[in-house]
Amino acid sequence: MALKWFNTLSRSVQEFVPLDPAGQKANLYCCGPTVYDFAHIGNWRTFMFGDLVRRYLEFKGYAVRHVMNITDVEDKIIKRVRETGVPLRDFTGKFEAAFFEDLKTLNCRMPHLTPRATEHIPQIIALIEKLVARGIAYRATDGSVYFSIEKYRAGGGQYGQLVKLDFDEMRVGERVRSDEYAKETAADFALWKARVPEDGPVFWLSPWGEGRPGWHIECSAMSMELLGPSFDIHLGGEDLVFPHHEDEIAQSEGAGLQAPGLRFVKYWLHGAHLMVDGKKMAKSLGNFFTLRDLLAKGFSGREIRYSLLTAHYRETFNFTLEGLPGARVSLQRIDECLTKLRELAGAAAGKPEADVVDRFSAALDDDLNVAGAWGAVFDWVRDTNRRLAGNGMTASAAANALATWDRMDEVLGVGAPSEVAVPPEITALVEARQAARQARDFRRADALRLELKAKGWVVEDTPKGARAKKV
Ligand SMILES: [Zn+2]
Repeated sequence: MALKWFNTLSRSVQEFVPLDPAGQKANLYCCGPTVYDFAHIGNWRTFMFGDLVRRYLEFKGYAVRHVMNITDVEDKIIKRVRETGVPLRDFTGKFEAAFFEDLKTLNCRMPHLTPRATEHIPQIIALIEKLVARGIAYRATDGSVYFSIEKYRAGGGQYGQLVKLDFDEMRVGERVRSDEYAKETAADFALWKARVPEDGPVFWLSPWGEGRPGWHIECSAMSMELLGPSFDIHLGGEDLVFPHHEDEIAQSEGAGLQAPGLRFVKYWLHGAHLMVDGKKMAKSLGNFFTLRDLLAKGFSGREIRYSLLTAHYRETFNFTLEGLPGARVSLQRIDECLTKLRELAGAAAGKPEADVVDRFSAALDDDLNVAGAWGAVFDWVRDTNRRLAGNGMTASAAANALATWDRMDEVLGVGAPSEVAVPPEITALVEARQAARQARDFRRADALRLELKAKGWVVEDTPKGARAKKV
């Protein structure tokens, strides 16, 4: 079945047809973190959405090239650098490292490329030069370079592809230096910001004097540098639709690098917000959580991943701390089933049960309907448990069931303990053997070892103590 999803550009659910004529490659750009603080779970919902898209494309057999930028210079970062007095690279490096750690904790697949804005200043300057040469960008009296919406539109450019804008309300030639603004105040936006005293030591040389890039141009320059002037998918949170993504389109298409008939990006995907207890997350409300806050409360990355993957990407997800134990219970159901299957399958090799995988995949093909996909998973768990309970399952059927899970988990990424859980009676025997050894009763220790062996377990002495392992 064909994969369909909601393209913000067309405002409709569309079939994914990659630009690659062979239909094999899929290029994906996800707006990455602004590394001025630890990412919060609202951010993580969006990054996990990027991971879901990446994993599902790979599941479908596409060769994905996944780029996620690191915004390591922009307004908020400069403000923090000024406040803390820490050099830019040291300041951003700490949060960048934390971001990658968190990405691993949530078992997200690492993007193939994670370019930093500060390492693409020449490409950013070259792109601005193109816009200046085409008459779409201009240097204002404050020394900054702005994108002229009027000139862009006069040249046939369409500003307002992702959102509807009321141009009658806009005052031509007005400028906005800040990276963030509402669509009601849309105006010429900054591509290059002339150095001001508050920037301190954060500046680069350019044809327009000392300064630094605007946020929007960073993503245009890096995405086109690494994926070409036209690529398949650009993804981010819905808060980025305007102005960030709208401005990216204007800059990238304004530079005129695309082949005739091609856009900058074919599919724009946006993930909805996350609320906490029905409210917008805010530090002042005490409902603001970073991933680390939740780990400190005793939840695992796997449980948080599961929880964030339960809601459809276009629906607002209401996160609650009370909901996380439910994630734990659901995962335990899966784990218990897999443990039994592993015991039964032994070393037998299996292949996925096509009907189960097809149902799972059909749900995801339908605009990434994760609820339907989880429905397929839990129906399968229930059926598998029923078959196991009936004692009619063979080792090869168990191996097929495991292969089925592995196939689905390529997308879900919630994993499962790779080792068979140790039953309590075995743990008791291991402990009794340890006690016997400590009491130097080696005959009894040996007898217990043989008893364990008879039950199919061996004892391994590790630096952390004795551990039972299934033979
Ligand atoms: Zn971006």
